[in-house]
Amino acid sequence: MTLDSILEEIKKADKIVILTHENPDGDAVASSLSMKIALKELGKEADVIMDECPKTYRFLPEAKNIKKETEIEEYDLAISVDASDLKRVAGGSRYFETAKRKIVIDHHSSNTMFGDYNFVNPVSPACCEIILEMLKYFNIDIKTELGTCIICGIITDTGGFQYSGVNAETFEFAAELLRTGVNIPQVYKKALKTKTKSSFELTRLATERMEFLEDGKITFTYINCEDEKRVNAQEGDHEGIVEEGRDIEGVEVSIFIREKEGANGYKVSLRSNEYVNVADVALMLGGGGHIRAAGCFIAGNVEEVKNKIITEIKQVI
Ligand code: AMP
Ligand code: MN
Ligand code: MN
Repeated sequence: MTLDSILEEIKKADKIVILTHENPDGDAVASSLSMKIALKELGKEADVIMDECPKTYRFLPEAKNIKKETEIEEYDLAISVDASDLKRVAGGSRYFETAKRKIVIDHHSSNTMFGDYNFVNPVSPACCEIILEMLKYFNIDIKTELGTCIICGIITDTGGFQYSGVNAETFEFAAELLRTGVNIPQVYKKALKTKTKSSFELTRLATERMEFLEDGKITFTYINCEDEKRVNAQEGDHEGIVEEGRDIEGVEVSIFIREKEGANGYKVSLRSNEYVNVADVALMLGGGGHIRAAGCFIAGNVEEVKNKIITEIKQVI
């Protein structure tokens, strides 16, 4: 079984690195830190490498030990969490490629199974939920620090237990974690409800610019680099903007695009409510994701990028 092989590989390895996707979100950061803490329980030290960790998640245990790079050329074992493909691993991909053994743990239906061992469950609402299942299989004691990370990933990727992927197990896990002393209301507030001032300013700009298309079934808005500089935005400050459009009555698809510095194009975020499969739309545009939340990168200016996305969505809305 894959999980037995994964445990074997962990036990054999000395130098271990944990990697995740670019622009890490709550589930990406929390999955990485959960793995680090769990490995410590197994007597192993591991490096967690990612792009800048958003300020919102720096309250998590072990967050201060996240690195942007290390001098180790070749790890014995690389573990990728919450990333659908190697391209998404971005800054850390070289550590993954050179590692002797590779493990992939993820919940994206578009996962390309790019590891030697792949533990992927597209039905799971958060990568952290998969990690919890794995750690229970390993008989690892879930103490408060580990539980805090796990629940942070579950809370952020389910929008606070709201999204359709949430199942009975999600609540059973939450109840178990509560019993072990995890302060769920506190994690909920810190990870989901607290915005930086810059994030508020960016959201205000984006909502002011929001356009309604196709009889109000689509919303579109954007943020460029100049806007981010003006409000002194940091990593993660754009999070939540795409949900503003999605939450408006009558809207099926919300589109938010954000200029990617030095790349001559925009990072696209898509969300849907009931029937449009935005993972399919994103896949057509070279990206991926989940049925109700997906993304991609498109080269061009705001108008060009907008037209490309709208053309695709018009066919399915
Ligand atoms: P975001 O809009 O960035 O929050 O992303 C929504 C979902 O789509 C997440 O699960 C991402 O992992 C996935 N996603 C975003 N961009 C890409 C991409 N370029 N390729 C594959 N998946 C993506
Ligand atoms: Mn993620
Ligand atoms: Mn995730």
